[in-house]
Amino acid sequence: MGWIKRRKTKTIYVGNVPIGSEHPIVVQSMTNTFTEDVETTVAQIKELEKVGCEVVRVAVPSVRAAEALKEIKKRISIPLIADIHFDHKLALLSIENGADCIRINPGNIGESWKVKEIISLAKERGISIRIGVNSGSIPKEILAKYGKPSPEALAETALNYAKFFEDNDFTNIKFSLKGSEVKSTVIANKIFAEKTDYPIHIGITEAGTLISGTVKSAVGVGILLYEGIGDTVRISLSTSPKEEVKIAYKILSALELKKRGVEVISCPTCGRCMVDVETIAKEVEKRLEHIEKPLKVAVMGCAVNGPGEARFADVGIAGAGDYFILFVKGKVIEKLSEEAALERLVEEIEKTARK
Ligand code: SF4
Repeated sequence: MGWIKRRKTKTIYVGNVPIGSEHPIVVQSMTNTFTEDVETTVAQIKELEKVGCEVVRVAVPSVRAAEALKEIKKRISIPLIADIHFDHKLALLSIENGADCIRINPGNIGESWKVKEIISLAKERGISIRIGVNSGSIPKEILAKYGKPSPEALAETALNYAKFFEDNDFTNIKFSLKGSEVKSTVIANKIFAEKTDYPIHIGITEAGTLISGTVKSAVGVGILLYEGIGDTVRISLSTSPKEEVKIAYKILSALELKKRGVEVISCPTCGRCMVDVETIAKEVEKRLEHIEKPLKVAVMGCAVNGPGEARFADVGIAGAGDYFILFVKGKVIEKLSEEAALERLVEEIEKTARK
């Protein structure tokens, strides 16, 4: 780790989780349940916790949702962010009900006294605020200045909000600047990052479905992270939030910024392959997603690159004709039939994870 120099940012807290460049990048996600349905929301948050979600956000579109936060808070162990649009009273109610952070877009909250009321209660309760700015809600005067919701307009909007919060003596804030495209998001974040030291929440909003959204997010988030920008990350996908968390870790892991869980290295297979690499690799990922310890697992098809890669992994199998060889920390442990390979591999990874 350490080949990317992170931009220096101040630390703020969401509950007990620090966010800022002195701390590891925080992975977060957002539930897609109705927040007032406490049972289902808590169940989803617990699933997210299992795969490593460190902070969770829930939508608060109604008084019932804001009131549900109290019960949800009691039953989960990661910090809770309330996502508020339009109605500042919902923000106040969410803070009263125990939210650890409020996400607002001051642009759609309306008059400044409403934002000031949120600031004053957040200050009193010692909680942080995430200020979210997106290209759809740039104030009229900035839009008039730039003629369109350009990255410069997005950055200026965020900088103006920073000034407003500072003028109200509140700096317990982090920012997100999201366009729906990689280019506008990257440029806006770069402009903003050069001018402040507030922590930034990164992600590509409305990125898309599993494959297209993952690619778009990996590119956008990857560029920002490589530039040293980003203190917390959420991958937004039109799929289960659990996938968002897993993908966030994979992006962070690919950049060597944060490691968690089993990383499967598997070969693409080719005409030399006589074993079912794809099924085994997928099953290993699925069955071992609860493991927190970072482990490299290789599943390789044949003797060409297989033994080499498998030897460098914590645990690995490499095809040798129609059977596999099992490696642990570079040593050959045993020969496995294809039928026995998956179970033995899983067993050996679990054993290694416990050490
Ligand atoms: S490891 Fe073997 S089976 Fe897999 S892609 Fe390489 S040559 Fe093909």
